This record gives sequence, structure tokens and C-alpha cells, in this order.
Amino acid sequence: MAEKFYELPIDEYLPQNGNRGYRVSRYELELVYKVASNRLSGRAEITAVTTAVQQRFSLDLSQSLGVTKVLVNGAKAAKYAHQRGKLTVTPAQKIPAGGVLAVVVQYSGTPTPVRGPWGEVGWEELTEGALVASQPNGAASWFPCDDHPSSKASYRISITTESPYYAVANGKLLRKQTKASQTTWVYDQPEPMATYLATIQIGPYNKYRVGSAHDEVPMNTIMPSRLRARFDHDFGRQPEMMAEFRKLFGPYPFESYTVVITDDDLEIPIEAQGISIFGANHCDGRRGAERLVAHELAHQWFGNSLTVGQWRDIWLHEGFACYAEWLWSQAGGGATADQLARAARQNLSRAPQDIVVGDPGPQLMFDDRVYKRGALTLHSLRLALGDPAFFALLWDWTTRYRHSTVSAEEFIDLAGHFSPVSLRPIFDRWLYDQPLPELPPAVGATG
Ligand SMILES: [Zn+2]
Repeated sequence: MAEKFYELPIDEYLPQNGNRGYRVSRYELELVYKVASNRLSGRAEITAVTTAVQQRFSLDLSQSLGVTKVLVNGAKAAKYAHQRGKLTVTPAQKIPAGGVLAVVVQYSGTPTPVRGPWGEVGWEELTEGALVASQPNGAASWFPCDDHPSSKASYRISITTESPYYAVANGKLLRKQTKASQTTWVYDQPEPMATYLATIQIGPYNKYRVGSAHDEVPMNTIMPSRLRARFDHDFGRQPEMMAEFRKLFGPYPFESYTVVITDDDLEIPIEAQGISIFGANHCDGRRGAERLVAHELAHQWFGNSLTVGQWRDIWLHEGFACYAEWLWSQAGGGATADQLARAARQNLSRAPQDIVVGDPGPQLMFDDRVYKRGALTLHSLRLALGDPAFFALLWDWTTRYRHSTVSAEEFIDLAGHFSPVSLRPIFDRWLYDQPLPELPPAVGATG
């Protein structure tokens, strides 16, 4: 019986990922990376609490990394095996339920991205440097972890690499130390973070402040100096965007916000906790990517602070971030949210209506229809509630569930408190039925 329970997937969308029997509270990673040879060696100290007595437990870790040592609570593990992306550890002493599990894993190898239905995710070499883009299951390409979005923990990440390079990780830079030709960068991320949002970015970068020194949320950019002038233009309205989103979505959830621009082009920007990563191509000198600048910033609230417990609810990340694009467009003097919503609905009406946005399945979880129809769900809700109740709901949502795990059910329940009539039909039609609903006519301030 126990074995069976152990093997039940945590998330049907990613049946191989995530593990049972413990809850991680902290990761401390000490990494050494050689840019020229793409060689990574690491020591991960994982602090967890067991939720059941178990003979053994497992962590997610890619097979491209080899394990050389495993300690459990200071003692050598009785046994460990690393197969099919799982590091299974048998402690020398059985650990009682509720007991502390301090696991140290030493490992090294040539990290490669994890291949899946969504292409390659995880650690990736750049022309000069490396990046991490883990959504949804790439974290195990660079550290042993409980790789599931509901498993949030604090982090300390130390990364040592060749001195000419700038190395970024999540959180606050605690110290930077150069010894001979190597520099060690130590970052601390105290707010809980999902594994897919943990990141390392290494490249020929410099750091610049964005906005003014008096801004309440410090903003920086880390990028090749050749892109500075374009960045200043293309991301020039980011401070206003930050102010607008803080007004609409509540306090910014982290200590600072960093934008990394890679020297290479990137197909799409990458979200990470406290950080967004754009490609050199997103600095086109024409603000061509401003929609994405707003989208990625919004993910700090929707995705990073409030993170889904199950990937089927991904519209809670992408629908909200897409709606934030529309809100920013209107606030920034462009098309109104209502105009953009109606145009998006028009486009969707020409696409196949064979997706359930509230449970799209793993193959379609990043389908554009999840983004657009997720945003339309919110617009439809806004038209039903009116602006004061709708924005009060958004504020309540981000405050109540700050730094935690969320579900669509929780959002639907909370929305119910802002309406005298049942909102269930709106959610059912937009999220759980396939045919595309009509948008009600625009009213008042949303027009
Ligand atoms: Zn997104």
C-alpha cells in the first residue's frame, strides 16, 4: 500500500516530477561553473521535514549530472541510486514523521536541458555564458530538488565562475568575492520560491540601475553594455509600469526587480522570481517588446508570489499576465483593455474551439489560447463585477495568497465574495467549456 501511494503522481501534467514524504523548506546551493567547458559542479544542502516514516525518499536530478556523495543528517547515506531522473536515497537511520531531513548532495557534470513536450527547458549554454529557463520542469537540470511548483522554499545560491562574467541568481547579492581568476557570487532569496523559478544567468554583463534611487522597489538591469541605449528607450516606461501594477495588484512581492538581457537572441522572455530575462532581440529600439515587458513584470505577482499548485491552473499565471498587458496598454495611452479584449476574442473565434482553458492538458498548457482566454475570463469577470469590485478582488487575491500556492477553486471562491449573484456560469463558460462565449457589452469606465 505504502509503495503505491509513494508512486502516485503529484501532478498529472508532469507525472515524473515532484516527490512524496517530505516538504523542503530551504535549498543552499554552492555551484562552480566553467563557461568554456560548460562544466557544473555543485553541493546542494536541502533542508526538509518528513511527512511520513519512510525507508527511502527521492529527489529530481537530471542524468546528465553524476552524484558523488550523499549525506543525510550528517551521516553517509546507507544507499543511493540515480536512475531516470530520480535520486533515491536510503538513510542509514530511519527518520520519524515530522523529523528533520538535512540532505547534502555532491554532484557534477555537463548540464543539458531537459527535453519535453514543450521543447528544451533548464540549464542552457549561451554563446558566452549560460542561462536557466526551467518552466515547467527544468530545475533538475542543475540541482537536486523536489521539482514541483507547490514545493516552495527559501534559497541561498552561491555561484563561482570566471571573473570576467557577471553571475546572477535570485534574491539579494550578499557578497561577491574574487580570488585569482574566479569570482564567487552569493545570493539570498528569503521569500519562498518554486523550483522552476530558481535561476542562474551568466554572461558578459554589466549592472545598471533603472529608474531613480528614490524608487520604493529598486530596479536593475544586467546586460551587455552594447545594448544600453536601446534598453533605456525600450524599457524606459518600466518604472511607470511598476507604479501602475503596484496600484492595481498591491505591493510588489519581492525586494527588488532585475531584468537580464542576454547577449544572444531569445525566442521568448523567461520568468524567474524577482528577475525577468529577455533576449538581445527584445531590445529593438522601437519598444517592440513592451507588451512582454508588462507581461513578465506581472508574473512577479501572478506566478511567482502566487504560484499554482497544479499546472492545469496555469491560466492563473498566463491569463493574469496577459490581462496585465492589456491594463498596461490602456494606462500607457494605447488601446484600452476592452478594445484589446474584443480583438482577442475576435481572433480566438477563428481558432479551433477544442481547448478547456481551465484544464488544457500538458500538451496545450502553453497554448496561446490559455493566455488569451484566461485574460478574457478576467475581462468578463470585470464587466460583471464593475471596476471597484474587480480591482478589490485582484488586490485581495494577491494579499491573501502572497508567497503561497493557489488553485482556480480558491480564486473562484474569493471572487464569489465580491458579487451578489453567482459567478459560476462565467467561470464555467470561459474556463471549463470549449465553445467560445460572447463578451457582454462594455460598461462605464472599462470602455
Ligand atoms: Zn507568461
